[in-house]
Amino acid sequence: MSDEEWESLEDTLIMADVGVEASAHIVDELRTSLRVKGKLSPEEIRSLIRENLIEALHPDMDRTLHITTEETEGNSAVIIMVGVNGTGKTTTAGKIARLITAEEKSVVLAAADTFRAAAADQLETWAKPIGAAVIRSEKEGGDPASVAFDAARYAHDGHVDVLIVDTAGRLQNKKNLMDELGKIRRVVEKTMPVKEVLLVLDATIGQNGLEQAKVFSEAIGLTGIVLTKLDGSAKGGSVIAVQDTLHIPVKLVGLGEGPDDLAPFRVEDFVDGILGEE
Ligand code: GDP
Repeated sequence: MSDEEWESLEDTLIMADVGVEASAHIVDELRTSLRVKGKLSPEEIRSLIRENLIEALHPDMDRTLHITTEETEGNSAVIIMVGVNGTGKTTTAGKIARLITAEEKSVVLAAADTFRAAAADQLETWAKPIGAAVIRSEKEGGDPASVAFDAARYAHDGHVDVLIVDTAGRLQNKKNLMDELGKIRRVVEKTMPVKEVLLVLDATIGQNGLEQAKVFSEAIGLTGIVLTKLDGSAKGGSVIAVQDTLHIPVKLVGLGEGPDDLAPFRVEDFVDGILGEE
């Protein structure tokens, strides 16, 4: 491959939000390994790159949602949704709730983003067609942990299969956010274990993914990532670094605003998207 072709490959990775440093690193490693391997055709090189990226995404990671009845041993399975505002938390909570009811399971939604009445209304809109209850605060600005606590009791006492807790994502004050999320988790755990804490990352935010993952991981602990807005031109390459450094698997991807626009994360499809080979 010519220098220009190597540069164009590096640009492809950078444009896909893999990160400037990581992209340079990937290209350098390949060039070095090719010196050992000898001359390869551009096609062979592309397939090597593809393999390297797939490897970096740890294809063997467990990407299932741990919400089956066997796993929860008689309790409701609890999923807490976290993430910066606008990433698609509430929408994703609604989509997951639909998936669960499609499997003939019952679900209850908790609107623990008590500062935005609109967030609770949005949840109601998702809940109504599937007949799910929404637990919300009586007044705007109520205590989010108390909503989460009430919802956990409701889910437990009513033998609801799955509880999904939607939270606020104001990042302006990191300490408050961390305290609030930690408290939500603790109060739910007074009733039953939390099986999944899903961080919703917006593919269009570029390189910010790793930083957000670190903050939320510290605040509440994460079991998985949902990468939203992959239906646009953004490739979401920043999750490569998130998976590689924090070992948190991407479990689901958001492919639009509609009810069925949620899909499992498939490593190979994702890599082909980054390399522009869909
Ligand atoms: P929240 O503040 O994190 O709860 O975010 P919302 O769920 O309110 O979503 C913010 C906006 O992003 C809404 O207009 C959603 O319809 C939109 N959205 C959410 N997920 C996706 C997705 O996968 N693709 C696209 N194109 N839009 C999405």
